[in-house]
Amino acid sequence: QSQIAAAVKQIATKINSDYEGEKVLLVAVLNGAFIFVADLIRYLTIDCQIEFIKTQSYEGMHSTGKVKMLLGLNKDLQDQHVILLEDIVDTGNTLVALLEIFDKQKPKSLKVATLLLKSEALKHQNLPLDYVGIDIPNKFVVGYGLDYDGCGRQYADIYQVVL
Ligand code: 5GP
Repeated sequence: QSQIAAAVKQIATKINSDYEGEKVLLVAVLNGAFIFVADLIRYLTIDCQIEFIKTQSYEGMHSTGKVKMLLGLNKDLQDQHVILLEDIVDTGNTLVALLEIFDKQKPKSLKVATLLLKSEALKHQNLPLDYVGIDIPNKFVVGYGLDYDGCGRQYADIYQVVL
């Protein structure tokens, strides 16, 4: 819990310094990122707005390899500084699909903040992963917003699921 809090604060500090005097649109990816973004946004001192989108790529503990958009974006990203907020980047497939959609709207800048990164599992290079909280091993985890088939999101700590 303390390590998570430190990681969230460190991301917020970097965002505050990088965007000082700017207006930023945060786009959070539901469901998993809801606790991370709720904590993060309270450390932000910059002028910001937040929007939510919802994707699904996992069934149980396995990636389906396809990214389903369950709830889309209702906001125009053109000429805006956008930061995409993710709970976890695993293969990076979700991010690639989202960046492609977002890029089409010609934002002024587009960066990504993720609480967790499984760098060993990453299948894509040159992703704009400017803000990474904790690099974790390639294991399936739950807690702090992350679920296993809908359960476990409420844990204050993050646990590896062992079956
Ligand atoms: P990617 O597309 O990068 O492979 O996976 C991203 C999405 O898969 C995340 O936003 C999250 O929903 C889900 N995911 C990936 N790894 C984990 C994990 O270890 N635990 C949980 N609960 N979800 C994960």
